[in-house]
Amino acid sequence: MGTEKFTFEAEVGKILDIVAHSLYSHKEIFLRELISNASDACDRLRYAALTDPGLIEGEGDFRITLSVDRKARTVTAADNGIGMSRADLVENLGTIARSGTQAFVERLSGDSKNDMALIGQFGVGFYSTFMVAGKVEVLTRKAGETEAWLWTSDGKGEYTVSEGARETRGTTVTVHLAKGEDEFLDEERLGGIVKTYSDHIPIPIVLKGADKEETLNQASALWTRRKKEISSQQYTEFYHHVGHTFDDPWLTLHNSVEGVLSYTNLLFIPSTQPFDLFLPERKPQVKLYVKRVFITDDCEGLVPGYLRFLRGIVDSEDLPLNISREMLQRDPRLARIRSGLVKRVLAELKKKADKKPDDYATFWDNFGAVLKEGLYEDRENRDRILAISRFHTTAGDGLVSLDTYVDRMLDGQQAIYTISGEDGQSLRQSPQLEGFAARGVEVLLLTDPVDEFWVPALGSYRDKPFKSATRGGADLGKITAREDAEKAGKKAKRKRKRSRRPPTWRA
Ligand code: ADP
Repeated sequence: MGTEKFTFEAEVGKILDIVAHSLYSHKEIFLRELISNASDACDRLRYAALTDPGLIEGEGDFRITLSVDRKARTVTAADNGIGMSRADLVENLGTIARSGTQAFVERLSGDSKNDMALIGQFGVGFYSTFMVAGKVEVLTRKAGETEAWLWTSDGKGEYTVSEGARETRGTTVTVHLAKGEDEFLDEERLGGIVKTYSDHIPIPIVLKGADKEETLNQASALWTRRKKEISSQQYTEFYHHVGHTFDDPWLTLHNSVEGVLSYTNLLFIPSTQPFDLFLPERKPQVKLYVKRVFITDDCEGLVPGYLRFLRGIVDSEDLPLNISREMLQRDPRLARIRSGLVKRVLAELKKKADKKPDDYATFWDNFGAVLKEGLYEDRENRDRILAISRFHTTAGDGLVSLDTYVDRMLDGQQAIYTISGEDGQSLRQSPQLEGFAARGVEVLLLTDPVDEFWVPALGSYRDKPFKSATRGGADLGKITAREDAEKAGKKAKRKRKRSRRPPTWRA
C-alpha cells in the first residue's frame, strides 16, 4: 500500500484554521497535550494487558521519551503505549470523535478572540501541535500488531498515511517546528514545561539528550501523594489532564477512605460550564482506577448523571482487576463507593453554601440546573440536594434557599408560589404577578427546564405545596399583606428580628 491522501473532516479543518491563525498565548501547551495523550495510551495498554498479558511482553515498563534534533529543528515525543492501527489513525487524527463537536464548531464565529475562548473550553488536544509546527509526523504501531504507520500533515486541510517502520509498539510524534519557534529546541525549556504542566503524570517522562537521559517528573500518581506535598498548581494541571479542561477548579476534593472499602478520590468541580454539559448523553466524567490501573472513563455506576460536572478519578483498592468493565459496573462494591462519593460531594457543597454563599452562587449558576436533576432521580439524597438548592425570587437579586422562603412566608400563606419561564427578568415583570407584588408575596422564579420535573415530583416542601402563581390568584385574599403584617407586628413586638422580614419586593 502506498501513500494515501485524506482530507480532514470539516470540523477539524475549521479548528485547525483557528489554531494556526490565532495568537495563542501559551503555545507551550502543545507539549502537555502530547504527553497527556502518550500517558493515556500507556494507561489503555496497561488495562488491555490485564486480559492479554502478551501485549506488553518484553516491555512492561511504560515511559514517555522526549528528544530534540536541533539540526532538523524537531521536537519528538515517543511512548510505548497502545499505539494506533491504520484505521485508528484515520479515525483519531482526522476527525474529532467527541460528541457535540459539530454543535460546538457551529458556535465558532470567525471572531478570533471569541473563538479562542470557546476553543479553550473545548480543548484541541493533538491539533494544538500546529500552533508551533510546520509539519507533524506520527509514526505508530499498535500493540499486538506488526505493521507500523506514518501519518503526516502540515495542518492545512490534508494529511497522508503510509506504511512506516517501527521496531516496537507505541507512538512517536515528531513536531517540525515552524519558523520562530526555536525556543522549543532548548532542552531546559522543555524540562521546565514538563515540570510545570506534566509533573503529575504517573509514568516516567525522560528527556533523552546526546549523552544522558534525565527523568523530568516524579512519576508517581498524584493522588497517592500526601496532600501537603501537592501544590495547587499541580492539582490544577492534573485537573486539566484528567478532565480535558482548561479552567481552574472551583473545588478540589482529595480524600482517602479506609475501612471495609478503601478508595481514594481526587475530584474537581470546574469553575466554568464545560461545553458538553447539556448533551443528551449526560455522561459522567470521573475515571475509575483500581490499584493505580486505569479501568474506564465511562463508568455509569460510579457517579450519577446529576453530578456529571465532576472531573477527576476514583482509585479503589478492593475492586477486582481481572473482570470486565461490564461486570465491574454491576459490582455492589461500586455502588457503595458511589453512595459514599455522592454524600461527600453534597456535604462539601453544603459547607460552601452555608459558609461562602457568594462563592456558592458561582457554582449554582454553572451547575444548579444539573444538580436539580437529582431531586427526582435520587430519592435517597433528595433532602440533601434540597438543602443546597437555591432560587431566584421576586424578593431581590440574591439566591434564596427553600428554607429561607418558607421561614419568611406571610401570615395566611399556605403555598410556595412559583412562576415558570425562560427569563427571570421578564418573569419579574409578568402581569400575572401583580397581585402578588401588591401584597408582597414572594414568588420563586423557575427558569430551568428541569424545574418542570422536580417540582411535580416533590409536590411540597415542609408541608407547603408548590403552587403556580398563575393559579394562585384566588389565595391572595387569605394572605395578610406584608405592609399590614408589618404594621401589626411593629405594634405588637417592636423588636422583631430583621432577618426574618422579607426584603422589599422588587419588580
Ligand atoms: P483527546 O486526547 O482529547 O481524545 P486528541 O486530539 O488529543 O484528543 O487525540 C485524539 C485521539 O488520538 C486520542 O483520543 C487517541 O485515541 C489518539 N491518540 C493521540 N495520541 C496518541 C498516542 N500517543 N497513542 C495512541 N493514541 C493516540
